[in-house]
Amino acid sequence: MAVDPSPPLWRQIQKKNFTDIQALADFLKLSEENRSRVLQKSPFPLNLPLRLAQKIERNCLEDPIFKQFLPIKEEIYTTFGSIEPVEDQRFRLTPKLLQKYDHRALLICSSACAMHCRYCFRQNFPYETKIQGFAQELAILQQDTTLSEVILSGGDPLSLSTASLGQLLLSLERINHLKRIRFHTRFPIGIPERIDKPFLDLLRSSSKQILFVIHCNHPKELDPDILSALKQVQRLGIPVLNQSVLLRGVNDDVTTLAALSEALVNSGILPYYLHAHDPVQGTEHFDVPDERGASLIASLQTKLSGYAVPKFVREIPGMASKTPISNHKELRLQSSCQSLPLE
Ligand SMILES: *Cc1c(COP(=O)(O)O)cnc(C)c1O
Ligand code: SF4
Repeated sequence: MAVDPSPPLWRQIQKKNFTDIQALADFLKLSEENRSRVLQKSPFPLNLPLRLAQKIERNCLEDPIFKQFLPIKEEIYTTFGSIEPVEDQRFRLTPKLLQKYDHRALLICSSACAMHCRYCFRQNFPYETKIQGFAQELAILQQDTTLSEVILSGGDPLSLSTASLGQLLLSLERINHLKRIRFHTRFPIGIPERIDKPFLDLLRSSSKQILFVIHCNHPKELDPDILSALKQVQRLGIPVLNQSVLLRGVNDDVTTLAALSEALVNSGILPYYLHAHDPVQGTEHFDVPDERGASLIASLQTKLSGYAVPKFVREIPGMASKTPISNHKELRLQSSCQSLPLE
C-alpha cells in the first residue's frame, strides 16, 4: 500500500500560524480595552507564526513583536503614504522579475510569506499567481549577460517547496554569467525549522556563491534555535547578513539597535542595511524622521565595531542604488568635538 509522504515538519509548523485575530487575542490574553484597539479585519490579513506569538508579552500593545504583526486601528485613520511608495511596477521586466540596479535582478519567487509584517512595502503588490514556474524570467536572466547576481525575494523565497527551489537553482546553475544567488528571507525568524537537511543539501549542491540576507528588526525576534539554524547555513561558506527596517516604537532607540547588532555579530551575522521605513498607506504610526534615524546611526557608530553598524538607506524610486542617509549636522558636531584637543 502506498504511503502518502507526510509534509515536511516546517509545513506542519506553518499550519499553526495565527490567522484568526480572535484566537490570537485570546492567546495574548488581551483586555477588552486592548481588544478594542485591534482591527478585526484588514485587507492585509493577520499571519503570525506561533514561535513569534509566544514571544509577545501578554496583554501588551507596546511589545515590539505585537507592533510589527498585529493590525491596529491606526492603520485606517490615515491619509499618509501611497499603496506603492517604491514603485516596483515601473521596474517589472516580467510578472516575476524586477530590475532597478545594475548587475542584479530580483525574482519574486512566491507571493507567500512566513508572516505578515504590518509595515511591508510589498503588501499591495499585485503578485502573479496564475503562471507557474519562471520560464519568462529565466529567459531574460539567460539573455542579459550584464547580470551577475539574482536576488530571490518575494513574498519569501523559502515559502517555495524545497523541490521547486531545487528546480529553480538547477536552472540558474546553467546560466554561466550568473555568479551569485542571494536569498532575501524573513522565514527563519518565524519558522527556523525551514532550514532542514534537504534545504541545506540544496544550498550545498549549487556551484554559485550563495548569500543569505535575513530580515530581523528587534533582538526579541531571535532565539538559539534561529541562530543555530542560520549557523548551519554559515558553515556552508554562505555569508549571512541582516536587514532591518527602522520602525517607530519597535527599534527606534540606540539601546535596541545596539542589542540587535550585538546579538547578530555574536553569531557572525553582519548588519547590512537599516532601511528607512517606506511610506506605505496605513503605516504612518511606524514612521521615523530621517534625521532621527541618521543620529541613531551616528550614536551606534560610537558604541559598536565598525562592521556591526548597518548602512542607513532609503529606497528612492529611479535612483541607481539605495540612497544613503547621513546626518551632516551630527557629523560636523562630532568632528568639531574631536578636533578640540588638537587645537
Ligand atoms: C533593494 C533591491 C536590490 C538590492 O540592492 P542592494 O543594494 O544590492 O542590496 C535589488 N533589486 C531591487 C529591485 C531592490 O529593490
Ligand atoms: S516577510 Fe517581508 S515580504 Fe513578507 S510581509 Fe514581511 S516584510 Fe513583507
